[in-house]
Amino acid sequence: MDVNLTIKGLFDTAIDAICAHRDGRIIVANPAFAHLFGYDSADDMAGRPVIDTLAPEERPRIAETIRRRSSGEEVASVYTATGLRRDGSRFDLEIGASAFVLGGERYCVAVLRDISEAEAAKRHLVESEERFRNLFKMSPDPTWIIQDNRFIECNRAAVAILGYPDEDSLKNVHPSELSPEFQPDGESSFAKAERLMGMTMANGLHRFEWTHKRRDGSLFPAEVTLSAIQLQGKPSLHCTWRDITERHQAEAQMRLAAGVFDSTQEGIVVTDINGNILSVNPAFTRITGYAGCEVIGKTPSILKSHHQDQNFYRVMWSELRSKGEWRGELWNRRKDGEAYLEWLTISAVAGQDGKPARYVAVFSDVTELRRKDDQIRHQAYHDALTGLPNRFLLADRLDHALEVSRRTQDQVAVLFLDLDRFKVINDSLGHHEGDKLLVEVARRIGQTVRKSDTVSRLGGDEFVVVLGTFTDTTEVALVAEKIIATLARPLRLAGKAVHSSTSIGIAVFPQDGEDAAALLKNADTAMYQAKAAGRSCFRFFDRSMNEHAVRRLELEAQLRQAIDGNQLELHYQPKVLVETGGLAGFEALLRWNHPEQGRIPPMEFIPLAEETGLIIPLSYWVIEEACRKLAKWRKGGADIKVAINLSARQFHDEKLPQRIEAILQRTKVPGSALEIELTEGAVMDAPGRTIVILQRLRALGLRISVDDFGTGYSSLAYLKRFPINAVKIDRSFVMDLPDDAEDAAIVRAILDLARALNLDVVAEGVETVEQLDFLRRAGCGQIQGYYFSQPLPASELDEWLRKAP
Ligand code: C2E
Ligand code: MG
Ligand code: MG
Repeated sequence: MDVNLTIKGLFDTAIDAICAHRDGRIIVANPAFAHLFGYDSADDMAGRPVIDTLAPEERPRIAETIRRRSSGEEVASVYTATGLRRDGSRFDLEIGASAFVLGGERYCVAVLRDISEAEAAKRHLVESEERFRNLFKMSPDPTWIIQDNRFIECNRAAVAILGYPDEDSLKNVHPSELSPEFQPDGESSFAKAERLMGMTMANGLHRFEWTHKRRDGSLFPAEVTLSAIQLQGKPSLHCTWRDITERHQAEAQMRLAAGVFDSTQEGIVVTDINGNILSVNPAFTRITGYAGCEVIGKTPSILKSHHQDQNFYRVMWSELRSKGEWRGELWNRRKDGEAYLEWLTISAVAGQDGKPARYVAVFSDVTELRRKDDQIRHQAYHDALTGLPNRFLLADRLDHALEVSRRTQDQVAVLFLDLDRFKVINDSLGHHEGDKLLVEVARRIGQTVRKSDTVSRLGGDEFVVVLGTFTDTTEVALVAEKIIATLARPLRLAGKAVHSSTSIGIAVFPQDGEDAAALLKNADTAMYQAKAAGRSCFRFFDRSMNEHAVRRLELEAQLRQAIDGNQLELHYQPKVLVETGGLAGFEALLRWNHPEQGRIPPMEFIPLAEETGLIIPLSYWVIEEACRKLAKWRKGGADIKVAINLSARQFHDEKLPQRIEAILQRTKVPGSALEIELTEGAVMDAPGRTIVILQRLRALGLRISVDDFGTGYSSLAYLKRFPINAVKIDRSFVMDLPDDAEDAAIVRAILDLARALNLDVVAEGVETVEQLDFLRRAGCGQIQGYYFSQPLPASELDEWLRKAP
């Protein structure tokens, strides 16, 4: 819509002086208007009483005319008045006025013209007929002399406008002969011309619009001014025409603009350069709920929804300033508070100086459209029954997951699920109950996996789960186990307890397939193997993974038995004081003596115990066992200290301090004899909570060391915020000492800082005398490692104690 151009055309480029006023005050005026009254800029005129442009004695008369026009009465549309310039000088003014409604408000528009010259010419008439004739001939406006209701004389301009060869062909012609048969109001041209000429003879002056006909038959609108004069002693009429085609077009354009403005479905807001609203259209009111009078004078920010941040508006304004236009989507708020989405175009409309003078914003409410869009998108990508992603969205998500893991080198697992005997349930209980089962299955699977994993339904009783970011395929096996267990729980269908089960096939990226299609196919194959193996179980596509998973699951079952079955044992490794060679204490290290598989190293079963939660009973067994041994040795008179390892999961067990206290009391061991080793990760996990737990442990007299120091992300300076006593330099830094210059530098740096922070340091994994020498020279206080002793079973400790210096 070209509101912009229309407004610009109307107010800025017109030759006529134009102003629009409402309630007696000028709303907007064009440069020609300002110029007419001696003002520099049209903006200076805005807000002034329109009546101030007239001589004081004229004001009551014109004010009455304006009042009547504003209230909708039919009044003369063209009249003359005396204008008053800014400098106080007066001039003859002709005023054409009309009223129109814009955005629900009634405006008056006045088109003004300085007619001083023509008036002066007529006044001279009586004084000098000669002079009059000259003026008459030279006037650029078509001019005629009428006597006895016929044109008796005309000038060149009159001949030219009508397209006749010379003045003679227009003599002794009745005005109706140069007109169509009827005027636009339906009155016959002859009768109307007679009437108007008669009126002028009586009143002296009359101005009206008239449709004329050129020689070629074409019509044009003219504004006719008749004034009664005496010529050669004979009553005559002086008649001038003005072609008002342009004005008519401008008015039509304005009516069109006003019509569009009023009737368009799009909301329109016009503001001044400072964003103050000048007008709004009915669609604006319909969309936002605000009436024009509620928002005019305010800024569009009353619609702000706060869905967009400051930056959004900054970008919008900078684009508006640089390009003169901005379009985009924006969330605003209706009067009733409801947020809505609008598609908005804002254009800057330049004034005559080329600088932006107005902003015109055109918008439509696209909330509903967007909602439907989202709904359609949701329907296209989701299973209607369960609401889960369908195969299209699955393909999308899987592709995305693969793309990410190609970069991060992580694995992705695809679990293909197929319900066992679903067809039987569906056939015997009916589709309705079958559907209920599927919905319940979807719900249960969803609860078993993390939010970041994808659960989708391919159709029928087939589901696919995509798991990202896991470190070991055992985790995948555990998820599969959990899904099988949760789906094995009975549910009620048609009043009966129904048991269902599922078989799962698993394919892992990258080893089981490069892309989504290959992974899905292989997971499907593995699923059939699970079915063949007797259902209600899972199978990896990769055979070795199956074995691995099976072993881990077996191990889990066996670990449960190990705790009760006396298969666990603690070994003790001494920590030695470097200076004196004396004993600083022991570290208790867990051993599992498996009845068939022999000794299983802690690195293999502790992560499993962590995943399954078995770590909690396991660790209490360790603390209890360590304290029992401590009590025994201390009874023998030795002031021995023992350090135990705590995993992150156990450390964050709320009951930990309380239960340690109970064990200490039961075994009659002082807290000062017990030390806790924690990894950096356990400390950094939830720093706030960690400090509280550590303080409670310290209150029991326990010492705290940070184990495997240097392998995590913490710094000593950071760790200092925690109430810890010592750090243990990880074996990986000690291993290549003293030859590896980088490790040597790291170890020296740790020792320097620890000294400054008043922390003890233990070096782990010392195996050679060269390592020992380096550490001694660097100032390390304690050493642990095979150089002194392997971890020993309790029974061998007494002997070691005897041999030790
Ligand atoms: P850690 O706490 O860093 O224990 C030190 C590990 O280094 C022990 O391995 C020990 O046998 C080994 N080691 C000691 N000196 C040397 C040496 O000179 N050379 C070499 N190559 N190795 C040495 P282990 O006993 O296999 O324990 C491994 C990890 O298992 C421990 O690391 C600890 O994080 C964890 N762990 C052991 N027992 C427990 C326990 O009761 N509870 C918990 N939560 N974790 C435990
Ligand atoms: Mg340790
Ligand atoms: Mg360690």
